[in-house]
Amino acid sequence: MANNVIQANKEMIEKMKHHYGNVLTDKLPPGAVFVAKPSGCTITAYKSGKVLFQGSNGEGEASQWGTSEPPKVKSPSKGTMTLPENFADWSVIGSDEVGTGDFFGPITVVSAYVKKEHIPLMKELGVKDSKNLSDPQIINIARDLIAAIPYSLLILHNPKYNAMQEKGMTQGKMKALLHNQAILNLLDKMAPELPEGILIDQFVEKNTYYKHISAQKKIQRDRVYFSTKGESIHLAVAAASIIARYAFLKEMDKLSAKAGVEIPKGAGKHVDIAAAKIIKRRGIEELKSMTKWHFANSEKAMKLARK
Ligand code: MN
Repeated sequence: MANNVIQANKEMIEKMKHHYGNVLTDKLPPGAVFVAKPSGCTITAYKSGKVLFQGSNGEGEASQWGTSEPPKVKSPSKGTMTLPENFADWSVIGSDEVGTGDFFGPITVVSAYVKKEHIPLMKELGVKDSKNLSDPQIINIARDLIAAIPYSLLILHNPKYNAMQEKGMTQGKMKALLHNQAILNLLDKMAPELPEGILIDQFVEKNTYYKHISAQKKIQRDRVYFSTKGESIHLAVAAASIIARYAFLKEMDKLSAKAGVEIPKGAGKHVDIAAAKIIKRRGIEELKSMTKWHFANSEKAMKLARK
């Protein structure tokens, strides 16, 4: 089983503890702040700030909270990437994805271009870290953004996701392929204009990212930077994240209409229950086409549906 470790501060650990409030367990190992068991994953948060995600959905859960290392910009040791000074004021393509930890719905990846002249407009439109925005706020801001800046959206629907996953492809590799393609599409759209930098909200180590896309015909390397918490590094990543979440919400609405059941986000118990309903009404194949089938939720839903 894959292990995913992220580094979190006290505030974030409190936020996580609250988020997993209904799946907390009583038994804590030494040094632990909490242990939670959402679907397909065991999460152990330690006083040191390390948070361990174990199990088949460990990567999915961890990706909701950040990636496996602390922000690179704050620890330029070990030869990791340091962003140029004043990077926040550059004209930048930001790239981010949504939906990786959700059982239902696709992965949406967006690359969005915010040139320096547009930074005040971004602030005016309310662009900021999408984790601090409600769904209605996301929808409002995204509608303005789509009209205001160049972007490229890719949607990986679950029939294709499941086929790739069953061939052994990791979610990390799928994301890398999608980011590379979204960036290339946007560069095409913008040509001959070029951004000063391209910032990918980091989900794997840089070398792993390039290894994942090594077989691609075109690989964008020029001007590419990686950082965790990219949304707080440049508003282009925040804008990309908002458009990606908007696209994800629209896809979830479509799925809800198709299934005749209000489809929940995430991978918790409420998701198992909705999934079981869909099995009863529409059958297993229909459910599979709407979900990331390798998540542990599928087993649980089938069990629930048999009851
Ligand atoms: Mn991200």
